[in-house]
Amino acid sequence: MSIANIDHFIAGQVVPGASGRSQSVTNPATGQVTGKVALANGDEVGKAVAAAQAAFPAWADTPPIRRARVLFRFLELLNQRKDDLARAITAEHGKVFTDAQGEVTRGIDIVEFSCGIPQLLKGDFTDQVSTGIDNWTLRQPLGVVAGITPFNFPVMVPMWMYPVAIAAGNTFVLKPSPIDPGPSLLMAALLKEAGLPDGVFNVVQGDKEAVDALLTHPDVKAVSFVGSTPIANYIYETGAHHGKRVQALGGAKNHMVVMPDADLEQAVDALIGSAYGSAGERCMAISVAVLVGDVGDKLVPMLAERAKTLKIKNGLQLDAEMGPIVTRAAHERITGYIDLGVKEGAQLVVDGRGFNPQATGEGCADGFWMGGSLFDHVKPGMRIYKEEIFGPVLGCVRVANFAEAVQLINDHEFGNGVSCFTRDGNVAREFARRIQVGMVGINVPIPVPMAWHGFGGWKRSLFGDMHAYGEEGVRFYTKQKSIMQRWPESIGKGAEFVMPTSK
Ligand code: NAD
Repeated sequence: MSIANIDHFIAGQVVPGASGRSQSVTNPATGQVTGKVALANGDEVGKAVAAAQAAFPAWADTPPIRRARVLFRFLELLNQRKDDLARAITAEHGKVFTDAQGEVTRGIDIVEFSCGIPQLLKGDFTDQVSTGIDNWTLRQPLGVVAGITPFNFPVMVPMWMYPVAIAAGNTFVLKPSPIDPGPSLLMAALLKEAGLPDGVFNVVQGDKEAVDALLTHPDVKAVSFVGSTPIANYIYETGAHHGKRVQALGGAKNHMVVMPDADLEQAVDALIGSAYGSAGERCMAISVAVLVGDVGDKLVPMLAERAKTLKIKNGLQLDAEMGPIVTRAAHERITGYIDLGVKEGAQLVVDGRGFNPQATGEGCADGFWMGGSLFDHVKPGMRIYKEEIFGPVLGCVRVANFAEAVQLINDHEFGNGVSCFTRDGNVAREFARRIQVGMVGINVPIPVPMAWHGFGGWKRSLFGDMHAYGEEGVRFYTKQKSIMQRWPESIGKGAEFVMPTSK
């Protein structure tokens, strides 16, 4: 089998890596190495930033409606090629093809949103703030902005960033995860085909070396990051230290509360899909079920039944519900957490370790497979409760009442997503108001906001104060300017030495 080189994309061209460093890219379903991704050094990052800097003045001056027209063409191409993108995701990430199609669709939503940029950039105007004087505000692009993205959504998460940034008149350097870098080049090729001028969108493949070069480069004006919390924290501090605007979205431990009045069949469907979909490798995956009152005794056996019968297969098979784990290292980390949970005294009701990959598909014996795991009687002091496992492991915590459920969640260091299943409107309302979490679902297990609402967690799930995409995204990628004007006919005589006020 041939091994593809996965290179950079700078100034409209695919540029081979020159650092001499590279990393293998593996198909997680088969365990076979399929590619070799270049890892950029500072010079290569410098070339990408220089290309973006050179393209900025003309792109920023292009009328927003013409920028939007390029995005409309990109949208058309995405709709034609979305299955190619989904296949590219499955080949390197392992998530099932139907889920990858969903990922691409949610990314396309942001492109659709960004096509409305002329309306989104409209400023405001006050006529006659003082006699003969008008004042207005407008928003202008920042310059070169960078996006650093995680492995788990190689298409959607970059699309949280670059369509909005580019539509607003910035130029962009994307640094994708080296674990599944292939789709980044496909997106770059489609943008070029859509007529985006060279240099407006660039890709540097790489690891920490490339990230550090972006964080310290004087021409990079803003950094958007999505990934784990320790790295998000580092990106925020380092970027801010170098004078950049930073939004850094981090890890999660998402809870789903099941109240005694909830429809238990629906709650089980929601927990199974959101805990084991994409093998739990979603920042909005539910990893903790908070079972209130007597719900635990009824629900845990129902969950166990379903967790044991998940259809775990090569993601290209259309009936697959869960694919492999992304890498061998991630597989070992998740297995380690299951071992730890047992040691900590939680009850392992379903054990996904030692899963037999026979049924997953032809050629998959060496893939990174595991079954779904289910813990009951998880306690808040346990590490399997406190830390993000990021795998197909669901922990059940039993609590006596609603107040205890809310307290438990509010005490957690993460605050990305949360959900509450109930039939009681007042409980739902109280939950949505009192919970210290950025994205809340009521009878919705994965409440990822739509393109025009913006995405972001609270606490250590987001560093920075602006959410990704939506109007917050437009604000993040632009700076406000206030302009006050008057004309000679309305200017009185004589210098004024007091603070001007409205006259
Ligand atoms: P990660 O933090 O390991 O990597 C994210 C990015 O940072 C990658 O581009 C990677 O190359 C780079 N990176 C890794 N180590 C670095 C270092 N030491 N210095 C500088 N850069 C470094 O995350 P991941 O494993 O790719 O993705 C999974 C994580 O992302 C999970 O924690 C998940 O919760 C989180 N995530 C969060 C959101 C959200 O919206 N909050 C969305 C998706 C994923």
